[in-house]
Amino acid sequence: MTKSAVTPTIDLGADGRHVGDLRVRWSDNSVPLGYHPVPILSLRNGAGPVVVLIAGTHGDEFEGPSAIMRVMGALQPDEIRGQIIAIPALNAPAVRQAARVSPLDGVNLNRAFPGNPMGGVTDQVAYYVETALLPMADAAVDLHSGGSASFFTPCTLPTRTADAALYARNLELAEVFGLPHIWVLGSFNDARSVNSAAERAGVPMIAAELGGCGGVDPVITDATEAGLMRVLRHVGVVQGQVEALPAPRKVEITSAEHSLYAPGEGVFDRRAQAGQDVKAGDIAGTLHYVLEPRRPSEVIAFAHDGMVLAHTNRGYVQRGDMLMMVVRDVD
Ligand SMILES: [Zn+2]
Repeated sequence: MTKSAVTPTIDLGADGRHVGDLRVRWSDNSVPLGYHPVPILSLRNGAGPVVVLIAGTHGDEFEGPSAIMRVMGALQPDEIRGQIIAIPALNAPAVRQAARVSPLDGVNLNRAFPGNPMGGVTDQVAYYVETALLPMADAAVDLHSGGSASFFTPCTLPTRTADAALYARNLELAEVFGLPHIWVLGSFNDARSVNSAAERAGVPMIAAELGGCGGVDPVITDATEAGLMRVLRHVGVVQGQVEALPAPRKVEITSAEHSLYAPGEGVFDRRAQAGQDVKAGDIAGTLHYVLEPRRPSEVIAFAHDGMVLAHTNRGYVQRGDMLMMVVRDVD
């Protein structure tokens, strides 16, 4: 396997608190001869479990980066056993611009795995995570949200892996995190995501969807910080009991046809929201053709029973935009 050309400026084997960069070498107009920095933080105290915390895989999702900075700021090396490696802005060029995908190459990092050591910035970062970072980990968490385009009811995302034992450990992490919903990633999952990279590395891992709308919700970010601390206690990096919580509700996308997409371009007058149970025929909203007002507005109804996991945050939608992501309960 080709070694990743991305190099950390800190020694990830050293005890104590270390803060540095992953250096991604790629010559362009913005950085002709230097490197593109991806900040990395390490807290280590001897041998023990290693947990990798990632956020900012998409650059317009800010609850996760906030929660990781809170946790890494609060914990001292002598309070832990093993190591926490945190990357709060994995797609750093996108985070700087509050954009979903990298402005350097237009690539969606969560669709770039397993990456490419000879590729552009996003491909190189994915390759480093897949081949160098995740193989070090005993558990990993990748924090997302709906970004500027949408809003998710807070949920954790375990992959239903082919390896049943790994799936059980993914589910355990999802339950321990403590959000009210678990969105199981089944056959509709994309193999180019961090979740799939963790499956290939055989590492227990969850992602999370933590609200959205391009900002930082204080209640959801508090829940995320508490969830990260519960995961750290569960894995044994931080000492202490993990308090029992009510069992989360498990949901899954069982058909792409359950969700609703904009049939035209216009203002979506939304009438339903993430977290809501819906029946076939319930009204999701009305599409108003405000730029062609002779055209009658169109009522958009749910075609199937289910729960709304996410809704669009856009007022003006384009044909094909997701309006409502609808999931079903699973056992
Ligand atoms: Zn995301």
